[in-house]
Amino acid sequence: MARIAVIGAGLGAMAAAARLAVAGHRVVVYERTTTYGGAVGRYERDGFAFDTGPALLPLPAVYRDLFLKTGKEPLEKCVDLVQVDPAARHVFADGTDLLLPNASRAGVVAALNTALGSGAGDRWGDFLVRAREAWDRTRRPLLEEPLWPDWQVLAEREPYPAVPRKRLLRTRRAGTLAEVGALELRDPRLTALLESHALACGLDPRTTPASAAVLPYMEHAFGIWYVRGGLRQLARAVYERCLARKVEFVFDAEITGIVEKDGRAAGVESADGTVAEADFVVAGVAPEVLDGAVRRSVVRGSGEVPAQRVRTSRLTVLLALRGGRPEDTAHRTVVHAEDRDSELDELFGAASGTVAAPTVTVVRPDDPALVPDSGHEAIVLSAVVPTRPDGHGAESEVFEQQARSVITAAERAVPGLRDRLLWHEVRTPADIERTTGAAGGAIPAPALAAGDGRLLQPSNTTALPGLFTVGGWSHPGGGLPHAGMSGSLVAGLIVDGPGFRGSQ
Ligand SMILES: Cc1cc2nc3c(=O)[nH]c(=O)nc-3n(C[C@H](O)[C@H](O)[C@H](O)COP(=O)(O)OP(=O)(O)OC[C@H]3O[C@@H](n4cnc5c(N)ncnc54)[C@H](O)[C@@H]3O)c2cc1C
Repeated sequence: MARIAVIGAGLGAMAAAARLAVAGHRVVVYERTTTYGGAVGRYERDGFAFDTGPALLPLPAVYRDLFLKTGKEPLEKCVDLVQVDPAARHVFADGTDLLLPNASRAGVVAALNTALGSGAGDRWGDFLVRAREAWDRTRRPLLEEPLWPDWQVLAEREPYPAVPRKRLLRTRRAGTLAEVGALELRDPRLTALLESHALACGLDPRTTPASAAVLPYMEHAFGIWYVRGGLRQLARAVYERCLARKVEFVFDAEITGIVEKDGRAAGVESADGTVAEADFVVAGVAPEVLDGAVRRSVVRGSGEVPAQRVRTSRLTVLLALRGGRPEDTAHRTVVHAEDRDSELDELFGAASGTVAAPTVTVVRPDDPALVPDSGHEAIVLSAVVPTRPDGHGAESEVFEQQARSVITAAERAVPGLRDRLLWHEVRTPADIERTTGAAGGAIPAPALAAGDGRLLQPSNTTALPGLFTVGGWSHPGGGLPHAGMSGSLVAGLIVDGPGFRGSQ
């Protein structure tokens, strides 16, 4: 039995902790805040409740596997997991309104052909077939195996089979997601639909490799899920599973140092000077936090996998409304920006700053647990924004102004929104920084192939033997399923040793 110190109680770290405890190790999680879950937060006021982090769960199989491998009670017994149908409503810049059914290729093709016309649905259906090929080629190395030592193979090889297009004497193939839209989808609304999947992860579709086609494919193939009571219930269930497996939690314990002995990690040191010895240390925190604790750069990737692209965060606006949620309301609506180029320039350009009119996601769960009674509705709006710049405070005025433009955009999907508003709360990148510790409130993206490795995340092993990384900032990257997989990979690397090649 080894002693294992886990830094942070985010979902990735807790997934690793539960698996390691089941393997017979003594696991202690040190969390700097007073609660578990990290980004997966909840805000409650006046009988209303809101998810302040993730609102939807893609690829629930990852958490089903976690619950299967760590105890008798399956995930579905611990949380009320429901498939969201329709998967999404899209309100495009030209006013086109589209409802996409969940996980049905025929249904999606028909809906797109009806709403967009001229064979748009068929083109999207053909695109999904190619996206599936990219998924089949990358699923295992990018989700189910530790990062390959020769990660350059993943960085160089584009798995998306772009369609060759002859123009005059030249043959062109889409290399980026934006080019897939322009060359293969050939409708600005289909392009916006495609690009919204990258944008939601904080990725610029103009530079994101075509391999990102796996993002809409995953949602299409495996559906998109909600946990009744809010996504925080998933964090609660994982926390309780850890407790059931005798994982110990120490809250209010900020780790500021990694103890080293004989050239390997040998424990952790808290801000109050307490030292806890351990045989392995697993860090579920942003690389800058870990490097600060080790006082040098140990995250493998700093000198190997190229640095990540521009980091982004999210602005979230929680709305308490009078009047009940109308029947047949879509759970999630994406209100696309009216000026896509300006939005991308403002987010990813050299002078990235405030986004005047962003793409906004409107989440309206059909869930009585979130409202005081049926005469009220709780809505969460969110938009991708630049991270909080160094040295700035909460910048409440700037964010209040941004929140107003987010509400204005949402009115395109929810008419009369302002008239129903009782109160609203704004969650800024500074709030995200407070809950996760990541500088500027940055949110990690899932790992993607190609693009010279810019979208790969550092491996779960580090330059310091005995120290591992888990969660969104390490392989296979951010998002609930990816962070959950990182927990499985780290547990495998510790239990089976460096020869571990992934879950079967
Ligand atoms: C607003 C928002 C919306 C999102 N939406 C989605 C979505 O819809 N779908 C989806 O799949 N994903 C979404 N994500 C991403 C997802 O929440 C994360 O990728 C996922 O929760 C994994 O988190 P993690 O394991 O990296 O840990 P994190 O959530 O980053 O938590 C890190 C933990 O470490 C603790 N910590 C930091 N430093 C220290 C220290 N020195 N000592 C001790 N503890 C420390 C922090 O307090 C925190 O508890 C969203 C994230 C945000 C912020």
